[in-house]
Amino acid sequence: MKRLALAHLPTPLHQPKKLAEAMGIDLWVKRDDASAGAAAGNKIRKLEFILADALAQECDTVITCGGIQSNHARTTAILAARLGLRAILMLRLPELTDDRQGAGVPLDKKKISPKGNVLIDCMVGADIRLITPQSYQRRTALMQAAAEQLREQGAKPYIIPEGGSNGLGAMGYVEAMREIREQLDLGAAEGKAFDVIVHACGSGGTSAGVALGAKQYQVAPHLIAMAVCDDEPTFEQRITDIIDECRHHDPQLGEAVSWQVDASAKGPAYAISTEAQRSCMLETAQLSGLLLDPVYTGKAFFGLWNLCRAGELQKQRVLFLHTGGLPGLLAQPHAFASHW
Ligand SMILES: *Cc1c(COP(=O)(O)O)cnc(C)c1O
Repeated sequence: MKRLALAHLPTPLHQPKKLAEAMGIDLWVKRDDASAGAAAGNKIRKLEFILADALAQECDTVITCGGIQSNHARTTAILAARLGLRAILMLRLPELTDDRQGAGVPLDKKKISPKGNVLIDCMVGADIRLITPQSYQRRTALMQAAAEQLREQGAKPYIIPEGGSNGLGAMGYVEAMREIREQLDLGAAEGKAFDVIVHACGSGGTSAGVALGAKQYQVAPHLIAMAVCDDEPTFEQRITDIIDECRHHDPQLGEAVSWQVDASAKGPAYAISTEAQRSCMLETAQLSGLLLDPVYTGKAFFGLWNLCRAGELQKQRVLFLHTGGLPGLLAQPHAFASHW
């Protein structure tokens, strides 16, 4: 399978001691928030495989989608610029009402000052097309329509699904588990496998790759995917489908470890956090220097902390996969106004 070397690997694996003590678990953190410079986070591991495929097909344009502050869209835009590709981002804007029948409208940078991920999208010259939440439900068809239009103009477009979550992208996390196994074998984290892996789940690709790779490389026997939106059955289906797709790419892949989706920490809605979640993010940052974000990692870590408080993980060796998201935090300073 083709793979581009884009990320800074291996990412660190370390123990935040004071935080682990406060939580009453043997906590370790895989720092995929340090997997690159501005392109850091979990998406770069998926894009190493996906963009290798796009280049192998001699494509010159990538099209993808996500929420307005999508980390996946930002990472795709940066890597596209790095590789000399054009990037088209179809981004969902909650307050938008007219998007020209789903074709999308450009971002008026004079009216809405770009911040967080969007600022970076603009810096690297991505073609942003804003769409309504209603249109977003037809995102696959809309990306196909955009691709068709590009083909008529002589371009060679490549569509990347939401979150880079397909079988090819998920291979990035099968490989991440191999990387952790190699770190353990070299003596990191006392050289011992973990009891459970916990991470934020938003489109299912990371969970699928971790579930397969954790088994293959004996990293941990169980995975808890903390959903940040939707519900458990939706993600169970999506993750199961992506696991099947991975096996299609690599028939050598065996069983997955036992895994569960936990939607108890998703909060009010996607990208909207609670007072308690933000307090947990602040306490975590002050006990460890780990910066969580209010859309993904802050919610997942809040869910982990709740499990600890309920006494469900006492003394267990827990690996928290920090999947990034810092620009999303920087886009929400207002959310913390009541915390100072
Ligand atoms: C996309 C994302 C996730 C979720 O990963 P999926 O593979 O989409 O489930 C978690 N954390 C951050 C910071 C992300 O950007």
